[in-house]
Amino acid sequence: MHELSLAMGILDSVSEQAAKRGIERVSVVSLRVGAMSGVVRDSLRFSWELACADTVAAGSRLEIEEVPLAVFCERCAQEKTLERLILRCPACGGPTPRIVRGREFQLVSMEVPDS
Ligand SMILES: [Zn+2]
Repeated sequence: MHELSLAMGILDSVSEQAAKRGIERVSVVSLRVGAMSGVVRDSLRFSWELACADTVAAGSRLEIEEVPLAVFCERCAQEKTLERLILRCPACGGPTPRIVRGREFQLVSMEVPDS
């Protein structure tokens, strides 16, 4: 499962950061995930739960900020946000191979529980 390896990668970063800062428990982990990243959210959430068991992030909530697909259209000389994952300008219909945003898969932040 693709998402499980992604979840484990994120968990590695989270564990490393937590260790560095002396954090024993992480309650929320925020990610930025692009529409074009190929990540299935439900699958990622499920994988996250599995990956986190018995770690610093056990039982943590995964917050996923979705980044819409944005391209730059040469013909319109403008950035366009696409509703569908088809690389074509919604205004002029021209092909838009230049992806500006939408491929992200990043750890944004993590929170510790209030104590
Ligand atoms: Zn255009």
